[in-house]
Amino acid sequence: MNLVTKGINTENLPDAKGYFGEYGGSYLPPELEKVMQDVEKAYEEISKDPEFIKELKELNEHFTGRPSPVYHAARLSKAAGGAEIYLKREDLNHTGAHKINHCLGEVLLAKHMGKKKVIAETGAGQHGVALATAAALLGLECDIYMGEIDVKKEAPNVSRMKVLGAKVISVTRGTKTLKDAVDAAFEAYLKDPVTQIYCIGSVVGPHPFPMMVRDFQSVIGMEAREQMLSYAGSLPDAIVACVGGGSNAMGVFSAFLDDKDVALYGVEPAGKGLETGKHAATIQKGTVGILHGFRSLVLQDKNGEPLPVYSIASGLDYPGVGPQHSFLHSIGRVTYTTATDREAVEAFYALSRMEGIIPALESSHAVAYAVKLAKQLGKGKKILVNLSGRGDKDIDFVMEHYPLEEYEPEENLKDGYDEFLKHIGGEKN
Ligand SMILES: *Cc1c(COP(=O)(O)O)cnc(C)c1O
Repeated sequence: MNLVTKGINTENLPDAKGYFGEYGGSYLPPELEKVMQDVEKAYEEISKDPEFIKELKELNEHFTGRPSPVYHAARLSKAAGGAEIYLKREDLNHTGAHKINHCLGEVLLAKHMGKKKVIAETGAGQHGVALATAAALLGLECDIYMGEIDVKKEAPNVSRMKVLGAKVISVTRGTKTLKDAVDAAFEAYLKDPVTQIYCIGSVVGPHPFPMMVRDFQSVIGMEAREQMLSYAGSLPDAIVACVGGGSNAMGVFSAFLDDKDVALYGVEPAGKGLETGKHAATIQKGTVGILHGFRSLVLQDKNGEPLPVYSIASGLDYPGVGPQHSFLHSIGRVTYTTATDREAVEAFYALSRMEGIIPALESSHAVAYAVKLAKQLGKGKKILVNLSGRGDKDIDFVMEHYPLEEYEPEENLKDGYDEFLKHIGGEKN
């Protein structure tokens, strides 16, 4: 038994130093180097330990509810007018997104290392809630660092974390948002790297996190591969996933990297449009740099300071991207593309109205691109979309800022939603 069985060892990456080609590695203050080496060594051991793998598998099944289903979105496919669209339903996981997959792995690792406490930063609170959940389950303390502005903005998630027993530490310095929360969490980690461990929320950060988080997420791809063969009768022709840091995308891509006939698409947030500068499309617009301890494409200014980034989906709002994505882009194995805020909102409504599934705004970016791609690929082809999370958290925001009437004149509800879907293809406003 192994944690990962297929695909991700293509090119055997990362290498021993944590590089995917020229990307990745570990760029840390000397005090943290030894700490990361300990994490790496512990992961090396447990990732081959049948007991650990069994424990994680049981939690995945009986706690999270895995495997998550693959579902044929027949009405959406019909309306898109081309390839058949399938959804990998990570939105049905306990806590409502894919993040629980790596949080369970990380907290289980912490426990095996004898740690008492897990710490992390969070922006919108999604990673904080998933980590607080895993910490509650496994009986560890949990400190979540969050910018003061985000604490106010994301009150329901702050309450969820508190109910789950986590301590939410409001960070009042600097911009009082995610960047300062990262700094504060790193400082806390430096003060006591023995009893606590930093749990990163995506396939980013210093080695071994991009590898480790990918491995914990690879369960998505392994399941989806089998499910497509048994349910849809073949592998998909294309897979589409949204990319913030890139963990849900790496999770689903990892099992298909060796399948050269399966085209892979990563969708970054174009926000209000790439030309406006208000986006977080790191692969499209970034340059090589170092951010949060790793080398990758980064949205940065001339001095290497991360640029302010923006997306309607706070989970995609990050000025870097996982190093394996930069690598897969450089070798052309994955095609990276974008969807705007508006396209995402339209896909949000489309999936809700046509399939009864309210997607997270992050995941809506993938749905929006899949609808376009379905037309291009044409009939007889199959597209698998990784539906990374559910949209309950986004409902109030969408209703307030993008009211339905603007998008959906009555007559568009009639046959096949053709008119409505036409908009998904194009930028407006
Ligand atoms: C956090 C989040 C994302 C973005 O994270 P990745 O690491 O890029 O996968 C995407 N979808 C949902 C629902 C999220 O909560």
